Amino acid sequence: MRLIRVALDIPLSTLFDYFLADEGPVSIGQRVVVPFARKQLTGVVMALPQQTEMDASRIRMVEQVLTDVPPLPEEILQLLRFCSDYYQHPLGMTVMSSLPVRMRSTEPVIPKRALTYMLTAAGQALDLQSFPKRKQVQHSILQALQASALTPQQVKALAPSAMSSLKRLMEAGWVQPCEEVRPNAAQSGNTSVVFANAHALNDAQHQAVERVRTSAGFGAFLLHGITGSGKTEVYVHLMHHFLQHGGQVLLLVPEINLTPQLEHYFQSRFPETEIISLHSGLNDNERTQNWLRAQAGDAKIILGTRLSVFTPLPQLALILVDEEHDASFKQQDGLRYSARDVAIFRASQRGIPVVLGSATPSLESWHNATSGRYTLLQLKQRANALAQLPQVRCINVSNMLLHEGFSPQLLAALETRLKRGEQSLVFLNRRGHAPVLMCTACGWLSGCPNCAGKLVLHLNDRRMRCHHCGHQQKVPHACPSCGNADLQPVGIGTQRIEAALQAQFPAARILRVDRDSTRNKGSWQAMRKQIEDAEVDILVGTQMLAKGHDFPNLTLVGVLNPDNALYSSDFRAAEKLYAQLSQVAGRAGRADKPGEVLVQTAFPEHPLYRALLAHDYASWAQTLLAERRMASFPPISFQVLLRAEAKEQQAVFGFMHQARTCAADIAGEVEVYGVVPAAMPRRANHFLAQLLVQSAARKSLQQFLRQWRPRLEAIPTQKIRWSLDVDPQDV
Ligand code: ADP
Ligand code: ZN
Ligand code: ZN
Repeated sequence: MRLIRVALDIPLSTLFDYFLADEGPVSIGQRVVVPFARKQLTGVVMALPQQTEMDASRIRMVEQVLTDVPPLPEEILQLLRFCSDYYQHPLGMTVMSSLPVRMRSTEPVIPKRALTYMLTAAGQALDLQSFPKRKQVQHSILQALQASALTPQQVKALAPSAMSSLKRLMEAGWVQPCEEVRPNAAQSGNTSVVFANAHALNDAQHQAVERVRTSAGFGAFLLHGITGSGKTEVYVHLMHHFLQHGGQVLLLVPEINLTPQLEHYFQSRFPETEIISLHSGLNDNERTQNWLRAQAGDAKIILGTRLSVFTPLPQLALILVDEEHDASFKQQDGLRYSARDVAIFRASQRGIPVVLGSATPSLESWHNATSGRYTLLQLKQRANALAQLPQVRCINVSNMLLHEGFSPQLLAALETRLKRGEQSLVFLNRRGHAPVLMCTACGWLSGCPNCAGKLVLHLNDRRMRCHHCGHQQKVPHACPSCGNADLQPVGIGTQRIEAALQAQFPAARILRVDRDSTRNKGSWQAMRKQIEDAEVDILVGTQMLAKGHDFPNLTLVGVLNPDNALYSSDFRAAEKLYAQLSQVAGRAGRADKPGEVLVQTAFPEHPLYRALLAHDYASWAQTLLAERRMASFPPISFQVLLRAEAKEQQAVFGFMHQARTCAADIAGEVEVYGVVPAAMPRRANHFLAQLLVQSAARKSLQQFLRQWRPRLEAIPTQKIRWSLDVDPQDV
């Protein structure tokens, strides 16, 4: 009998030992099914130890060794060990949460054979001449299939919606899949990559590509370039280079950017290359199959959101992180990792280059790049000489009477665009109708019964909703406190803006894009199409609209109410606002039509707006860095945040004060702050508190954490949930 040590999804910082009966081969990284309490669990073999500290009579037998999927490589296990240690999360949970959900179950995975698609007899008999013209995509698929069978990627290269059109053709009985034994591309040694080269690179792009291409071994690069400066083109050329040398390329993108359009875009640039995507929009099966293609080395380009940073990639040669400043790269529960930071570690572990791209880099990356730890690559001009930068102007609203949130200047600008048949975007980062309802007699405000927050008025379905805990109720007819019937909405949200604009411009076609209007699957896709097809005059939206989409007919962006961030308790609020505003500003005038951005603010002289007007990220970053240096905040220092919550206030603070005492006892170069209520001190009937610990050196903080964590675990906690967040983004 042999001992094996297994990682399980159990909230304990240990691994678990089991006996293996037969002498069949078992390797580290393989999945096994084991009994745990009264359940069966799937785990991953982490070691084959000679001895155990457990009582041998209590060690149970492995039930099954799963051979459906090759073992996880040592490189990935090492990466996961690093993450478990760095982010203070149990190793077993770290390992298991890195796998596609399907592979965490006890059912074996059946890898799908490679497919091609061909016409059925009925499909061959079709007369394409009489096929409805408006079904363009279906038509072009059928036409291509008449010439030869197609692989899934050849289909995808035809159009963004090609896969769903293909499905319809299969349902109609005209197309059928057939299994094909594809030569394993990884071993075929054929590395000539078909590449649709769209542009000759300009000098700045060329230099950027050369610097990365010729980096020997590990190198971290920050590619800083304004929207439209041609960063994507740099990625594509780098991909081409590394693909030709037989490598795989991992491109990490923010959650919201991974759309069929993006996949189609890269597929059209590399029509013969197998490209897969990994994101939460896929079902468990698709995700697992894609993961397997990547792990086998067959998929060459992997487009993924944060979790894909853990995918085994035997030929990995380059990692790209687009919009590296984006908050969605940081996981907010469980293993609270930053996919960007893990990408850097992974690249250094493997000795390959990693490129972080952004128009508004995180201050962390900017600091690393300007202090020489990363190489700074800059694209200072728009790649397409005709696409001018938008003109940004501030409208000083400090002494102005606004009409439903609008200044006369902004209304006039909107009217001009309507007359010219161009699109406008009104940006406001608050959904709902109004952030709160107020009684004009007694001053009562619509508070959430479970939170310290307010209930937001949603007029469309006449509900009041809490954006923190999801509580909802009907809009009251009268003040619950004094009975007065005159309740007024205070403040503005996207729904109110939509209604006000419709009243102002009755003929305008207005579309609201926020989390409420895009809740249903596919609705955002449909809206994009409406916008692209010029069926919309004015867009009203939240940050969802700010990111990475090209709307060539959009020439005006109006920004309402951005000032809150200037006096927020979150020290990163201004940094985030700048990123958001330059991203929205980048939506205006991408084609040959110059864009205009109007920002309604009471502080037009603030350095943030001055930098925004001048399109000068670098000077803004210097301002911010100076502030952070004064306050010793990140990126000058490193932080960990202990958060706790419980139904009873005393319990939370009791625990936190003990935690603080433990922290103060540990000698080390860290600074322990006081226990404070969280920014949202009560949420969903729980009280929330937090404690910040900070250090000038990452290493000291890590040493401190290794001692603090076991002591925290030793504090008796009943009904308290606590967690450690290393490098927290929201403090
Ligand atoms: P970014 O990713 O920085 O926003 P893109 O790579 O999408 O920029 O480029 C913006 C636009 O400029 C695209 O339409 C692209 O086709 C075009 N473009 C990129 N590089 C060049 C170039 N070297 N010459 C001409 N046009 C270019
Ligand atoms: Zn009242
Ligand atoms: Zn609530």
